[in-house]
Amino acid sequence: MEKDYILQVKNLETRFKIGKKTVHAVNDVSFNLRRGTTLGVVGESGCGKSVTALSIMQLLPKAAHIEGGQVLYTPSPEQTLNLTDFKRNSKELRSIRGKDIAMIFQDSLSSLDPVYSIGWQIMENLRMHEKLSKKEAKEKIIRMLGELGIPSPEDRFKSYPFEFSGGMKQRVMIAIGMICNPNILIADEPTTALDVTIQAQILALIKQMQQEHGTSVILITHNMGIVAEICDEVAVMYMGRVVEFGSLLQIFENPHHPYTKALLKSVPVLGMGKDTELESIEGTTPDASTVFKGCEFEPRCPFAMKKCTEEHPMVCEIEEGHEVRCWLYEEKCKDDRR
Ligand code: SF4
Repeated sequence: MEKDYILQVKNLETRFKIGKKTVHAVNDVSFNLRRGTTLGVVGESGCGKSVTALSIMQLLPKAAHIEGGQVLYTPSPEQTLNLTDFKRNSKELRSIRGKDIAMIFQDSLSSLDPVYSIGWQIMENLRMHEKLSKKEAKEKIIRMLGELGIPSPEDRFKSYPFEFSGGMKQRVMIAIGMICNPNILIADEPTTALDVTIQAQILALIKQMQQEHGTSVILITHNMGIVAEICDEVAVMYMGRVVEFGSLLQIFENPHHPYTKALLKSVPVLGMGKDTELESIEGTTPDASTVFKGCEFEPRCPFAMKKCTEEHPMVCEIEEGHEVRCWLYEEKCKDDRR
């Protein structure tokens, strides 16, 4: 039922122009985000997951552009907007960014302005989107800082970023993202720079915020352990394409794509026996500007066949809600191929 989806990304294509080269950063990417759930977008660095997020928000650098596809945002059953119809700096998109769809980045250190107080920076986003007096806005921000576990929020409102630890700064980033109660929160590697204990606290906070505010979340990460902890569905990306999509259980219990299998074997996941050996993925990711006639994973794939070098694999639905882009499953999905 399409109306259960708050966001649908359909056949998205994003290109970068670097000198004379064109990099196909996002290739025919499609996925859906169900209302109130968390979708994990996972893959090695450079696989296109962050560019996908920036394309959704149209926050791409100047050298990049969206070549094709749609980003359908459905705030209510009566309304669906195609975000790619809007110009990147249009009034419509500026009012959606931060209010309807918010984004938090990995590097809170460079995202926060060192010369303004924490309170001022959250206030800026809040008053851009909501008509509140300064007093009302301040009260709302202090409440949010308290909810996010920042001690003495009234005093901390006046503090500057350098007075906060890494974990506290990331909480502030969540406050900036969540202050307008967005329908969608896109969190790009929100815990990468943090130690394991703080990581767990930040993930728990995102989950708590999601449950309290009914937010739908896209979590971008290279870490399968994080995906296992908080995601409902997972899109696995490799070289700009979604190679497998499914529920958390389908991806972890019944992975099909050779890359997903390799990814799962290469990272420690909770519940893994202590004697389980981790395996690295053979080879390296090819240069992003390489254009493949066939499957991008072919140079690293132990199951590659002749056909894999000749033609791009189609997306096959191998069971309800579980899609794989791999020629190995051609027979299984013949009738469902698209
Ligand atoms: Fe491997 Fe071929 Fe499947 Fe690509 S299409 S993942 S090369 S088996």
